Amino acid sequence: MLIFKEIEALKKEIKKSKQSGKRIGFVPTMGNLHEGHLSLLRKCADENDVSIVSIYVNPTQFGPKEDLDKYPRTLEMDLELAKGAGADLVFLPDNSIMYRENFSTYVTEEKISKPMCGKRRPDHFRGVATVVAKLFNIVEPDTAYFGQKDAQQALLIKKMASDLNFNIKIEVLPTVREKNGLAMSSRNNYLTSDEREKASIIYKALLEAEKAFKNGEKNASKLKDLVKNIVSKEKMLKIDYIDIRSTEDLEPLEKIDRESLLAVSASIRDVHLIDNVVLSKVKSYE
Ligand code: AMP
Repeated sequence: MLIFKEIEALKKEIKKSKQSGKRIGFVPTMGNLHEGHLSLLRKCADENDVSIVSIYVNPTQFGPKEDLDKYPRTLEMDLELAKGAGADLVFLPDNSIMYRENFSTYVTEEKISKPMCGKRRPDHFRGVATVVAKLFNIVEPDTAYFGQKDAQQALLIKKMASDLNFNIKIEVLPTVREKNGLAMSSRNNYLTSDEREKASIIYKALLEAEKAFKNGEKNASKLKDLVKNIVSKEKMLKIDYIDIRSTEDLEPLEKIDRESLLAVSASIRDVHLIDNVVLSKVKSYE
């Protein structure tokens, strides 16, 4: 496994692989790797000749009061895990390389990035789109892998890739969970084991709503209430939003007549957790 901190050296290595006809797969991450990241990397290694992972805590996607400084950084462990999951190249840029002095060009998506997490974090998706566009231009992968846990982010990247004509296939892989159902996240590190146990109610609520949907409930307000009632039982959790929106463009839905995303954001103390399930067509919609 080769490690690169400089853009030009990485590009040179990738060019060599491309010239010999190799398929390039890419997994962008912020490090502190867990099974969620590793599932993406393993799939990437499976489907490509060269697997590239980037580890970079991107400052432009953090708001002024967010956890940029305390975001968990575990580089040594990450490198071991990445190697074990099949990474061939690791890109480890620092801020001076990604955002040179006088950097002033950003990528702004104007629809998908607005609701849900975009409300609480107004510049977050601009930072995500910008850094991913930069990484795509540097790595030029055939395929890039993202997690369904961050469903809004995955949709945004697909939209950006399509709108800006990136010739890159975007694959979105299922959410990897703790045994109790809690979606794995680097931010779970901020929680005690008791809090993690309590937070697992979010997924339990999503599963109940999914069950009700499969049993015929197509009214979005009723499904959202169902989730709200379950999650509210855990007093420690503060609900930020519960939303049902079309998976295509995140348009809000009242009657679920197409594939939709049921997404929840809730916090314990100042730790924000997100999770979702996709409500997809079982037989025919009424
Ligand atoms: P992050 O390091 O949080 O920026 O995440 C890097 C990639 O891993 C993103 O595409 C995430 O959606 C994905 N990811 C994070 N957690 C999970 C998880 N529990 N299951 C699947 N993918 C995940």
